[in-house]
Amino acid sequence: MTEPQFDVTPARARDITSYDIESDVVVVGGGCAGVSAAIGAGAAGADVVLLERTGGLGGASAMSGGLIYLGGGTALQRACGIEDTSEEMHKFLMAATGPGPDEAKITAYCEGSVAHYDWLVECGIPFKASIYGGTFPEPETDDGLMYSGGEDTYPWYEIATPAPRAHIPQMQDKKPGERSAGWMLMHHLAETAERHGVRNEFNTTVERLVVDDGAVVGLVARRFGDSVTIRARRGVVLAAGGFVYNDSMLAHHAPMLLGLNKLGTDADDGRAILMAQAIGAAVKHMDASECAYAGTTGLIAPSIVVNAHGQRFINEDTYFGRVGQAVLFRQDARSVVVLDEETWEKVPPYERMLQPTSVCATLAELESEMGFPAGSLEQTVTTYNEHAAEGKDPIFGKQQHWLKPLRSPFAAIDLRSKMFLTVFTLGGLDTTVDGEVRNVSGETIPGLFAAGRTTSGIPAAGYLSGSSLGDGTFFGRRAGRAAVAD
Ligand SMILES: Cc1cc2nc3c(=O)[nH]c(=O)nc-3n(C[C@H](O)[C@H](O)[C@H](O)COP(=O)(O)OP(=O)(O)OC[C@H]3O[C@@H](n4cnc5c(N)ncnc54)[C@H](O)[C@@H]3O)c2cc1C
Repeated sequence: MTEPQFDVTPARARDITSYDIESDVVVVGGGCAGVSAAIGAGAAGADVVLLERTGGLGGASAMSGGLIYLGGGTALQRACGIEDTSEEMHKFLMAATGPGPDEAKITAYCEGSVAHYDWLVECGIPFKASIYGGTFPEPETDDGLMYSGGEDTYPWYEIATPAPRAHIPQMQDKKPGERSAGWMLMHHLAETAERHGVRNEFNTTVERLVVDDGAVVGLVARRFGDSVTIRARRGVVLAAGGFVYNDSMLAHHAPMLLGLNKLGTDADDGRAILMAQAIGAAVKHMDASECAYAGTTGLIAPSIVVNAHGQRFINEDTYFGRVGQAVLFRQDARSVVVLDEETWEKVPPYERMLQPTSVCATLAELESEMGFPAGSLEQTVTTYNEHAAEGKDPIFGKQQHWLKPLRSPFAAIDLRSKMFLTVFTLGGLDTTVDGEVRNVSGETIPGLFAAGRTTSGIPAAGYLSGSSLGDGTFFGRRAGRAAVAD
């Protein structure tokens, strides 16, 4: 590690003479995964305490766009006239979340998706039976269903029958990043947890596990400078988010993410992962990351995106997070959007957050202004235009309705900087479908469970909008239930 880390040395149960707090199940973290775990445990009859380091529930989940990836024929999909099956969803997730998709989790998730949607509705979360037809990643409307993973773009439509699967809690007057549909999700999950008698302990930062003969039996936390001991009679569920705010962990596991914009809260410090690693827990996909690209679909799909050599590298109409991952991991975080005036005029106003950085009459001028190798951009655009005029993109498979030859005047939006990519980590603890944490030998650690971005889950490497809240709520709830049974 590049700088001193937290002290995560486990405490020994025999050294603790009394506990300040005691309950059957203790959940760490009040985001979507933790609150779902608390509900799961509470609904199974357990006495549950939730420890949260801030002054309230929510975490990154409450700041989020609220997209929840579900399918297989949910009631909302059916009400919107969408046909979907868990088999098609399974095929898509196996292909799109790799490399290294977690098949056991994907199978459980697809099979349980319809019932999970019903459960969210039972929790009081409203969904409007309408499909969002726009291109912005987080709909400004209160529509309930949208495509969020490029399912209807190449190559995915050849692999699985496409269906919109992002389920979005209904909410008006959204303020993205502050109070959006994720707030609505958390509002109702918090109320449901309260109904199940979950006790929240705020301003309580968990620092270490308490271990007895290899089993996790509690936690040591800090509250306003004082040490607090907590006993878990049945199990501990770690749901404390990811580690994008821990530069030392990034340097160790995912150096490509250093210097990029971070999506989450500063509580995403990876401490819960380190606490579990300190007793032998295994981790997975620690270099994986969601990567939101500054150019959203309404801007880039009718344009072309080129690398530092003036060459295309992806179908621009696919999920913008997939474009972001391609830019980060395959193009060293450097890309340029090239378009023409006519295209720019048609970009929806709310997708014009980026402005052209160069405007030129000829491609030769633009190429020279951007410092591309001579002839590279001209060659790229000439080939693209020839195919676009015939309604084809044989190289990358962009769909016909986005194809139009680019004509003078041309413009470029220079995105050759890390500041145009925004990331959160996807790697974390290696868990079973019931949230049991595995150790480095592949055995489960008695008493220890985890969920959400503290774990590696559905988005193993490839990401789809909605897969984080989806897997956090789904596997969180399962982890809570399993902790009761432990
Ligand atoms: C602006 C924005 C938009 C997004 N949009 C979407 C979207 O539409 N769909 C989607 O799927 N994902 C989206 N995401 C990502 C998603 O919100 C997160 O990945 C997800 O909420 C993680 O859930 P979690 O429960 O694992 O963590 P969190 O929701 O972050 O909850 C973790 C909680 O643990 C607490 N905590 C941390 N450490 C400790 C500790 N040591 N002791 C006690 N408590 C601790 C934190 O304070 C926090 O409350 C978005 C994220 C952002 C920021």
